[in-house]
Amino acid sequence: MQVKEHIDQLLYFLLGSKLSPYQHTHHAVLLVGGFSYLACSIFNFVFQTADVILSYAQFGFFLLIMWIWFRSRFRNEYQRMALAFMFFLILIALPMNWIYNAGLAGPTYFLNLCVLGYICVAFRDFGIYLKVGIALIILLPLLMVWLDLIRPDLIYAYPSDLARALDLSFSFVVTAFLLLIMMRTYSRRYRLERDKAEYLADQLRNLSELDPLTGLHNRRGMDRYMDKLERSGALFTQTILDLDHFKALNDRYGHSYGDEVLCHFAKLLNHLALTNKGLAVRLGGEEFVLILPMSEAMTLSEIQKLALELQSTQPEKGGVTFSAGVAECVTGEEWEDLLARADQLMYAAKKAGRNRVFAASFEDNKLAASLEV
Ligand code: GH3
Ligand code: MG
Ligand code: MG
Repeated sequence: MQVKEHIDQLLYFLLGSKLSPYQHTHHAVLLVGGFSYLACSIFNFVFQTADVILSYAQFGFFLLIMWIWFRSRFRNEYQRMALAFMFFLILIALPMNWIYNAGLAGPTYFLNLCVLGYICVAFRDFGIYLKVGIALIILLPLLMVWLDLIRPDLIYAYPSDLARALDLSFSFVVTAFLLLIMMRTYSRRYRLERDKAEYLADQLRNLSELDPLTGLHNRRGMDRYMDKLERSGALFTQTILDLDHFKALNDRYGHSYGDEVLCHFAKLLNHLALTNKGLAVRLGGEEFVLILPMSEAMTLSEIQKLALELQSTQPEKGGVTFSAGVAECVTGEEWEDLLARADQLMYAAKKAGRNRVFAASFEDNKLAASLEV
């Protein structure tokens, strides 16, 4: 297994699915925050930069945050744990950080901004809690600034300039890292929603281009297919096929039998289209269009094969035939005009007694070939 897959598995275990980007980020913030507390606790303990009580408190916060992470990640308590973490940050972590880390002269402002970013991400779908969190996080530094002014004796100064420089650097790096994670979350969420919208739009378009009864393409699907085919400049034919005396068949055997006949014919037509890399369309009622990437002569022989196939697989009550008109594309001709030519040929086939296929060359525009199917 590749290193990337191992990393992905580890990240999944720690943060949950990337498909829930807000939860993913919430867990990342918990882990970065928790381990930052652990690092501070060890640093303060080892270098005695502050009262030892602070080290213990920071270690306690580390444990508390890990507990919150565990319940959120593995006990499905994302919302409750996000709220618990927000109140811990606003009521305990940030005020303590302000007091123990030199107030206005320390890095708590960075962390405040970072928590604001976190709340905007983790509470995105929580309605009122998002507003409460934002209000509190804006109010908190204002209170702290006034505390600095009114009770400066409560604020701990750094033991040395080095300790201040170290704390400012550390806090800045952690803040920058967390802000980066949050910005990535928004872009991931945006990408996921865009992909989903595109997928749904595709599905909707495909559905809108299909005929619900037969599953063939409808007129809209044909429009798109023809635009593409015309641009390719390839040779093709359009054939209009209309079932003969279909109204009588409907009247005699009922509408649902008529539907069965339509579906059966559509299946044969679609098979022919697919094997020839063409398209079968139900234009409406019992009228179909077949588009094939081949010459008029080859199309004629395919239509004859279709008629034989229909003859040998007649629906229950039998007697189903069709009349057809085939027209081959001519350079510069609009496909709508081509379709009109095929339609005229089909009507000529009807007039000539049905159960026929007509084709004509464009040059003399005569209804030349009349083949008894
Ligand atoms: P021709 O040989 O001249 O084509 O005669 P025809 O009876 O086939 O043509 P006409 O246009 O007179 O009748 C078409 C019939 O098709 C009328 C209509 O009730 C029926 N029809 C249209 N759509 C459907 C459908 O979705 N299902 C069914 N069962 N019948 C349909
Ligand atoms: Mg008909
Ligand atoms: Mg008709």
